[in-house]
Amino acid sequence: MPATCKVEDAIRGKLPFCLAQNYDQPMPSRLCASCRRSLIQTARADARYCSDACRFRGKYLRALLRQLDPTIYRFFLRLLRYSPPDAVGYRVGFDLPGPLWFYPPADRYSKRWRSRSVRRGYFRLAPFEPPLVPQAARYGVRFVNARGEVLRTPFQLLQGVDLVPIVLMQVEDGERL
Ligand SMILES: [Zn+2]
Repeated sequence: MPATCKVEDAIRGKLPFCLAQNYDQPMPSRLCASCRRSLIQTARADARYCSDACRFRGKYLRALLRQLDPTIYRFFLRLLRYSPPDAVGYRVGFDLPGPLWFYPPADRYSKRWRSRSVRRGYFRLAPFEPPLVPQAARYGVRFVNARGEVLRTPFQLLQGVDLVPIVLMQVEDGERL
């Protein structure tokens, strides 16, 4: 058995083991739904955004995301709720028979939705970058912090997420791990 639960384990059917390992995780702290700064300082217990500017940006983003396939918006909501507080980005792994493919690739420039290509090995959480994947499938989610370290995937996401392509791309546009 591996020492820590990796997203590959979840994808490859070792979910019960992963669940057992992840029960000790703290509940995520409350973060602004737009910029991911902590909401501890804000007066209202039900505040979702840290400022009017973030509320405006957040609503604009949601309106844009709702124009995409509903799976993307559902994924966005799940990440808002379950991504580790110190995560800055995420990658999604596509489990074909054989090697694992991850998106976006870390070793070269890659496309972003409504934006130009960037050389960054993850999709940002704030401002949110929707995942760009080659095929409709179930993908594992892996989070990274600002130092590029891979974080433990919260158990709520270990079963993977269903995603569909929103731009045209190939399996080989990912990174083979
Ligand atoms: Zn904010």
